Amino acid sequence: MNICNIPDRWDLVVIGGGITGAGIFREAVRMGIRVLLVERVDYAWGTSSRSSKLVHGGLRYLKEGKILLTKASVEERERLLEEAPGLVEILGFLMPVYKDQNPGRTALSAGLTLYDMMARGHGHEFLETQEFCMMLPHVKEQGLTGGFHFYDAKVDDARLVLRLITEAVASGGTALNYTEATEILRNGSGNVSGLIVHDTEKGNLRELSTSAIVNATGSWAEGLHPSPDEKRHLRPLRGSHLVFPHWTLPVAQAVALIHPDDHRPVFVIPWEGAVLVGTTDLDHDQDMIMEPAITEEEISYLMKAIEIHFPSLDISIDECIASFAGIRPVLSEGKLPPSEESRDHVVWIDKGLVTITGGKLTTFRRMAWDALDAVKAFLPPLFIPDRTAAVFPPPPDIPGIDSGLSRNAWKRIFGRYGAAALSLVRTADPKDLREIPGTMTLWAELPFVARQEQIRHLSDLLLRRVRIGILVRDGGKEYLDRIQELCEPILPWNKNQWKTERARYLDTIRRFYSLPHRKPIIEEKHEVIPFLRRLWMSLQHRGRTRRKQQ
Ligand SMILES: Cc1cc2nc3c(=O)[nH]c(=O)nc-3n(C[C@H](O)[C@H](O)[C@H](O)COP(=O)(O)OP(=O)(O)OC[C@H]3O[C@@H](n4cnc5c(N)ncnc54)[C@H](O)[C@@H]3O)c2cc1C
Repeated sequence: MNICNIPDRWDLVVIGGGITGAGIFREAVRMGIRVLLVERVDYAWGTSSRSSKLVHGGLRYLKEGKILLTKASVEERERLLEEAPGLVEILGFLMPVYKDQNPGRTALSAGLTLYDMMARGHGHEFLETQEFCMMLPHVKEQGLTGGFHFYDAKVDDARLVLRLITEAVASGGTALNYTEATEILRNGSGNVSGLIVHDTEKGNLRELSTSAIVNATGSWAEGLHPSPDEKRHLRPLRGSHLVFPHWTLPVAQAVALIHPDDHRPVFVIPWEGAVLVGTTDLDHDQDMIMEPAITEEEISYLMKAIEIHFPSLDISIDECIASFAGIRPVLSEGKLPPSEESRDHVVWIDKGLVTITGGKLTTFRRMAWDALDAVKAFLPPLFIPDRTAAVFPPPPDIPGIDSGLSRNAWKRIFGRYGAAALSLVRTADPKDLREIPGTMTLWAELPFVARQEQIRHLSDLLLRRVRIGILVRDGGKEYLDRIQELCEPILPWNKNQWKTERARYLDTIRRFYSLPHRKPIIEEKHEVIPFLRRLWMSLQHRGRTRRKQQ
């Protein structure tokens, strides 16, 4: 489907295919609205594939006195844990407490107690030094007075967006990626009458008619509607992460560290077989049309946090697999330090155009209701569904197919694909129901998403439908032949197009998902066998760690 073969008239058009747009789209379809979603690049291409991948209340919001935002987030976390097992998963956190640390034990304990009360479960506890060190063996012991253990949750952010969009489409919505909204049209009274959309790949334009539009374009929202408050504008704040192999930073649970320079929390998060370290928080002065990328300054900041807290691991930046950076949509008067800016969302209503920006991944459903409440006056009479009903249908029982998949692997693919997981497994070649080394992704997911999920480029497939691009060194270059073999019968690319896609993908990885100023990623045919290379690095690392410990 593309802009040429969709109807002229829509009840509602949602602009932006990140978590905010996807949540509104899903809820609008549940209300029986004839809704179209358009995304300029690819679904989750913006901030929603570049988050810290936590579904959390956010302890820092409590510190700032944002009780309601924290409470709403914690309630959403609990709901998502129940509704989307395998996609949103409980995550234990360890937080070391050092002598003279700020915030100290008393303040943290008060915050965590409040946090527990909001969740009505998942209690925290304080562990004495010896027990804490058993839970987190490589942590710096000098000055350690113990540490907290508490719970939050983790998610595959891009798959959360994709699951909302694919299920909304299966229930009757229409979604187009690589389709940009270029102009909002209004009638003589200033009310919205339609919009112009542009197929960014083929170049053609189309005029569509509608009296209701939601602008959910995150950090780009002021491109379609300026802030009504001339003192408060979107301030693009970049947050970046480093990705390490698990053997380099062997943590069984997430760790919340206080950065020695600015006392901000930095997280170390075990995720999909790798470990994420992040995030930073600083003004983004790169071109907003380009993908954001980590800078040397941010690398030094993040490395300092882990080098100081895990001295015996002797972690080297050379072991880093990948990096990724995202832009927070934050409304600001530009006066506060980045980390003190409010993460609340805002809604602006302008005669049929509702703009919603800011907020968090975690609270997407509440943001969807706020946007739909605001746009309701411009829609035909609505069926209002039960707001407490589940967004995601309950996972089906594990079928009696002899697939060889473990219970956890089933849970993971049910979480990511909903009921479609059954057809993924049924249509898979049994030998592809195995994990891609270094990840939890099954080879069989690749041909499945290639067939089902509007792939236009190799980067859509490897960075957002599955996450190999950030989980395997050099974007998974060593697996590209196998990936091509699996997806060639499905994707409409001839040999030359595959060559172009591979080169374009590796260039994207080099520029935006690697470390700056490192060597170009070129496909080398006579490379050292990748497995031996990984083994060699791992042995070198272990040797170094052992020497350090002696
Ligand atoms: C580093 C970092 C870590 C974070 N960690 C967390 C976390 O752990 N948990 C949490 O809950 N939140 C987290 N957040 C916040 C969360 O990720 C964002 O609030 C959320 O992803 C924003 O989603 P969005 O849909 O509003 O914007 P986006 O995801 O940016 O989506 C907007 C989309 O609109 C598209 N677009 C722009 N202009 C147009 C147009 N004219 N036509 C069509 N499409 C257009 C863009 O291409 C983009 O895909 C984090 C944010 C950052 C930066």
